[in-house]
Amino acid sequence: MKLSFLGAAREVTGSCFLVEAANVRFLVDCGMVQGGRIAAARNHEPFAFDPASIDFVLLTHAHIDHSGLLPKLTRAGFKGSIYATPATVDLLGVMLPDSAHIQEIDTKRVAKRLKEKTVPLPLYTLQDAHECLQQVRGIEYDREFAPRVGVRARFRDAGHILGSAIVEVWITEYGYPTRIVFSGDLGQPGRPILRDPTPIEEADILVIESTYGDRRHKDFSATEADMIGIVEKTLFERGGNVIVPAFAVGRTQEVLYHLHRLTCEGRLQRPMVFVDSPMATEATRITREHLELFDEQAKRLAGWHARGENLPYLDFTASAEESMALNRIRSGAIIISASGMCDAERIRHHLRHNLPRRECSILFPGFPVSRRRGRLAGA
Ligand SMILES: [Zn+2]
Repeated sequence: MKLSFLGAAREVTGSCFLVEAANVRFLVDCGMVQGGRIAAARNHEPFAFDPASIDFVLLTHAHIDHSGLLPKLTRAGFKGSIYATPATVDLLGVMLPDSAHIQEIDTKRVAKRLKEKTVPLPLYTLQDAHECLQQVRGIEYDREFAPRVGVRARFRDAGHILGSAIVEVWITEYGYPTRIVFSGDLGQPGRPILRDPTPIEEADILVIESTYGDRRHKDFSATEADMIGIVEKTLFERGGNVIVPAFAVGRTQEVLYHLHRLTCEGRLQRPMVFVDSPMATEATRITREHLELFDEQAKRLAGWHARGENLPYLDFTASAEESMALNRIRSGAIIISASGMCDAERIRHHLRHNLPRRECSILFPGFPVSRRRGRLAGA
């Protein structure tokens, strides 16, 4: 058996592993390399294998650095199935078309800058993304399945984002089974909303992510105290707004969860919360549709929510006009906006309107506390 690391080795994006055994060739993840122009150029390079020769793909989760080259793979001739958990399948349904949209915009921007008459081809188009989605199959957590004769696989909870999975694979070669475990991205135990990662008892080969392997997680009670302090002081003492730049998938839902929980528990006065990112809105809708994946605390909070008890005011903006209208709110609002490429303009105008005002704050969820201008803080 041969295992090749085709990305995310000595770097943290472009996750892609190729497994070749006697009668099978498959990929685990097929991610996009992210970060700057060199990364973008690498995504355009041909695959290091023949896509048509790949039997199937096992996908750990929907983040673009793990899934973003799947439409390129299918366009290049891969005809097999892409297996993922049902929640990942739902997230891919919005994330791959969004990624294609970004590719198309980007290509036009480059062409304009270079003043070229012929527009270069995007990495993939919206149509490629939709065609790729036809090959995606949902498999529940903890259920063994056989993507091919001699291969069994199983998804286990990874606790990273909705639908994220550790992948266990058993390959029988010349009568001998080998068990390979791919951790995918792993969540911190005790994180909100999702269940903790499933402990895996044994493996012959373990492929594990180590992005933050050299750092300690911040103590959660300190994080929570920071969040309460910033929100209370900014909204109710200074009369300003709090701007929260957050990743659309995962982090935005965690921030919403904490704001809901703290308000329900009476530890925060009722704030007005606005989610200003179409992708974050979609990801929140999909999260709500997968109540079966919530941990016990999140299920309890969902019960509170259903009864409508002491909730924050929550609104999701859709159009660019609605987003601009938020600029007229001078105080009492928490505006969560994604830092992703398509939403970049939205977060920029919130920062432009609020940061110069001393009574406003910016809160970076999940990052170590940093203080500039005296009012930048992490929680
Ligand atoms: Zn991830």
